[in-house]
Amino acid sequence: MTAPWPPLREELRGVAPYGAPQLDVPVALNVNENPYGPSPATVADIAAAVAQVAGSLNRYPDREFTELRKALADYLARESGVELAVEQLWAANGSNEVMLQLLQAFGGPGRTAVSFAPTYSMYPEYARDAMTTWVAGRRREDFGFDVDHARDLLGEHRPSVVLVPSPNNPTGTALPREVIGSLCELVPDGVVVVDEAYAEFRRSGTPSALELLGEHRNLVVTRTMSKAFALAGARVGYLAAAPDICDAIRVVRLPYHLSAVTQAVATAALRHAEELLGRVDDLRRERDLLVSWLRGQDLEVAESDANFVLFGRFADRHAVWQGLLDRGVLIRETGPDGWLRVSVGTPEEMAAFREAVEALMEEAR
Ligand code: PMP
Repeated sequence: MTAPWPPLREELRGVAPYGAPQLDVPVALNVNENPYGPSPATVADIAAAVAQVAGSLNRYPDREFTELRKALADYLARESGVELAVEQLWAANGSNEVMLQLLQAFGGPGRTAVSFAPTYSMYPEYARDAMTTWVAGRRREDFGFDVDHARDLLGEHRPSVVLVPSPNNPTGTALPREVIGSLCELVPDGVVVVDEAYAEFRRSGTPSALELLGEHRNLVVTRTMSKAFALAGARVGYLAAAPDICDAIRVVRLPYHLSAVTQAVATAALRHAEELLGRVDDLRRERDLLVSWLRGQDLEVAESDANFVLFGRFADRHAVWQGLLDRGVLIRETGPDGWLRVSVGTPEEMAAFREAVEALMEEAR
């Protein structure tokens, strides 16, 4: 008998690689990017920073990326008012890699990771890749967090890692402060990862889990430069946690995982944080307008603290997704059955989206 080729792990056979379709369309509203790129002055500064390290690319980069960690700490102090030491920050190639490293360090065979669906579909993949048992609980019907259900599930499975985004992808739902505190208390022997990839878009009054870091030694807050920070192409994500957690990740990270070019780009971009984040308020306003407009169309819309909105419900959501694509507007077919997710773009892109939805609805009448 011949063994299957290539000799892929059994559980990976036939699995499609994760990723939204990368299509060349006039209006791409499918991966929650910031639609506003850097100014020529910021581009020049980033290019100069890369030119400066280019002369020493024969050498490995700073393995501890201390300058970048300091710049991230300064940024978080300005953004959330939380003061953190360099030893409390860690970065990698996107928050995807940060979370995989967390699973590699704190998950593993015989251990369990838990999240609550509907949620970010990469979580089970990190667990799989780190040979960690995956358990998905559920959210309430309105996508809010059900603490009683979580208490039962966490008591039953005793996970070493809990992954909860705030705001949640794909629903946009943020976690109340009390829920974050309760989760940390419910898993005293595990880490609670609050994935704040979209935190900068939160509505005023919505807390950041960063504010609770001083109270819980097992709380980890992940962030990214890919969304509000308008730097998805650079692949930089990071976390804030107690120093012993950052130290533990150093055991599993690959040596020199963050290239000199990445470090230079991210550090230069952080010098221009104000400009790069300058459109966040515009995007928040555009999001709130989008929510009202969709509700005006008699659609169901989830409350959103993010730069995307989940709306529905459609008997045949694929047909709606395809109908929009046929009109040049690419959104995301994700979330519970019947729902679709649209990212918030420029006013022109949102006008194109609204026009396409109206045309589709007209056609269906
Ligand atoms: N967390 C959530 C909830 C996300 O939606 C995403 C990206 N779609 C990420 C993490 C990963 O982003 P990145 O690796 O670009 O930081």
